[in-house]
Amino acid sequence: MARYTGADCRLCRREGEKLFLKGDRCYGDKCAIEKRPYPPGQAGKKRPRESEYRLQLREKQKTKRIYGMLEKQFRSYYEEANRQPGITGENLLRLLEQRLDNVVYRLGFAKSRSEARQIVRHGHITVNGQRVNIPSYRVRPGEVVAVGPKAQDLLVIKAAIISSERSTVPGWLEVDIEKLQGSVIALPSRDMIDTQVRESLIVELYSK
Ligand code: SF4
Repeated sequence: MARYTGADCRLCRREGEKLFLKGDRCYGDKCAIEKRPYPPGQAGKKRPRESEYRLQLREKQKTKRIYGMLEKQFRSYYEEANRQPGITGENLLRLLEQRLDNVVYRLGFAKSRSEARQIVRHGHITVNGQRVNIPSYRVRPGEVVAVGPKAQDLLVIKAAIISSERSTVPGWLEVDIEKLQGSVIALPSRDMIDTQVRESLIVELYSK
């Protein structure tokens, strides 16, 4: 699948806020948006015109970037969320949170979602004891996500675990750091998802 291969920090600067795409670097003084808090490119310092459409578009772009997705895949998540009962925006965030790469990140086995995606793609993660190398795999309540036996000594995973910023897991997950495994205890409600997005703007954009 095609994916964005440019600099992650440009995405934060484009959105005008920290999207926390690079793990520890995002919490230190090397964060690009701290140094250059304006959009990248020639016209970066010009103030863009605000409009309802622009706000909706930026919120959608921001959410896509946080979860590391391209338009087509993100749109299909929206369409599925729209078919589900309940509030579409909350359904959308819940579906995004259930992705295996996101769960690996939330459990603290990776410092960022992109790192988690790599770990999954390389076959280092199991779900209920079976190797799963598909980052979009949807983890459901009761399933156990674990670092595979051959990956337990990987430096990238050890570094993520000792990273102090990643020490808490959301209430819908449970982690056993000793065993390097965690499980989904329930589907997340909106108040359990700390992603700073206004999902209703995305719904407004797509429902036009
Ligand atoms: Fe964004 Fe992190 Fe880069 Fe800062 S360091 S601009 S938060 S990706």
